[in-house]
Amino acid sequence: MKALVKTELGFGNLVIQDRQEPEVSKGQVKIEVKYTGVCGSDIHTYEGHYKVKVPVTLGHEFSGVIVDVGEDVTEFKVGDRVTSETTFYVCGECEYCRNGDYNLCNYRKGLGTQQDGGFAKYVIARKESVHHLPPEVDYRSGAMTEPLACTLHAVDKTVINQGDLVVVIGPGPIGLFTAQVAKSRGAKVIIAGLSHDQVRLSKAEELGIDYALDIQKQDLQEFVYGLTDGYGADVVFECSGAVPAASLALNLLRKKGQYGQVGIFAKPEIEFNLEKIIQKEIQIIGSRSQKSADWEPSLHLMNSGRVNARSLVTHEFPITEWDQAYQVIKSGEAIKVLLTPVDE
Ligand SMILES: [Zn+2]
Ligand SMILES: [Zn+2]
Repeated sequence: MKALVKTELGFGNLVIQDRQEPEVSKGQVKIEVKYTGVCGSDIHTYEGHYKVKVPVTLGHEFSGVIVDVGEDVTEFKVGDRVTSETTFYVCGECEYCRNGDYNLCNYRKGLGTQQDGGFAKYVIARKESVHHLPPEVDYRSGAMTEPLACTLHAVDKTVINQGDLVVVIGPGPIGLFTAQVAKSRGAKVIIAGLSHDQVRLSKAEELGIDYALDIQKQDLQEFVYGLTDGYGADVVFECSGAVPAASLALNLLRKKGQYGQVGIFAKPEIEFNLEKIIQKEIQIIGSRSQKSADWEPSLHLMNSGRVNARSLVTHEFPITEWDQAYQVIKSGEAIKVLLTPVDE
């Protein structure tokens, strides 16, 4: 079968290869892939900023149909519509594993990074990671359960009360999901971006986010203080990974506000005003990836229509046209890009 494989570390080295069709072992299922999303981390891996175990088939956001099940698998049968968590192996013994925090296990191996992922016709997943797609969740939306679960993971670490003002900085797929999840918790939500994010800001409006602001045209801080009697936002989720956004977020927050860092900065250490953390008694929340407990609630949000994933898809390409997918992402014209497998 054809697979999109990162063959060596460094820039590029992502090629279509003929790979042996994988077979199930005990406790595993074989999934025929329908769609696999291109994640920001795939771009980082392509450009050589992220380490993966090479050679490996990339792609960790996928949906598909089960075509084979291994021994001991009774939860799934051939023909089931599914998606899978990225977790392929965890130690199962560390304190994190025992609490279900698989995303924090030191020995975790993920699909599409350490183990062959979804940019191929077939992928193998462990049964504990697989979830049925509910009836209203189509394959395209199902492929986006993973990024949605990452945002639900972040939102769940904060306390949001009905009517709270939540600001999401960065209107990419992660920001657009975070905004929708925050809205599902009863918040009033502002999503903020730059002028070149116009397509994404319009999408936010279409999705029913309360306010979508171009901060190069409008003063976000003034807007937030105007809405809150001069107090400031209750929660800010920084989803852009842009350094100026971090200090902007601190200015937007009210005293006792909550700061959620979801975006990843190009350099790990950035200037951050800790004096403001003290003076405003701000709580800072870090959120890494997602865990099992985030998946069913994410699928439920899509099934009930409270989160619209499908409408974030702007482009689709076969895995053989990776270059084009990369171009539309880098140019900023895309929101979410999905890849599809090829037969030959
Ligand atoms: Zn991802
Ligand atoms: Zn562990």
